[in-house]
Amino acid sequence: MNRSFKTTKKWQSQFQVLWPALKGSLAKVRKPCIRKNCPACARGDKHPAWMLSFTHRGRRYCFYVPLELVPAIRRAYQNGRRLEDLLYRVGPALIKEFRRQRPESPRPHPKS
Ligand SMILES: [Zn+2]
Repeated sequence: MNRSFKTTKKWQSQFQVLWPALKGSLAKVRKPCIRKNCPACARGDKHPAWMLSFTHRGRRYCFYVPLELVPAIRRAYQNGRRLEDLLYRVGPALIKEFRRQRPESPRPHPKS
């Protein structure tokens, strides 16, 4: 397709700003460690850790997220949500613009 669509062009910069983006869920979990006589584990407090998990093509993935990386992962997650929101708007916008540019063309009649 080599048409240029003005409607969606205005979103190009937004797409760039929303990078990096990811899909998945970030959750705080508490894990026991392997040390003997660990006071935190003995108390039942265990050790807080962050996990990124998602299902992709039928497979479940789980990753430990280093604490220093949590803010970046969280931002990328939010970017992913905004990106998805934007993607849902592109289709209708393209169709709308296409129709606006060709008001003379007859609408296709759906065959019942
Ligand atoms: Zn422990």
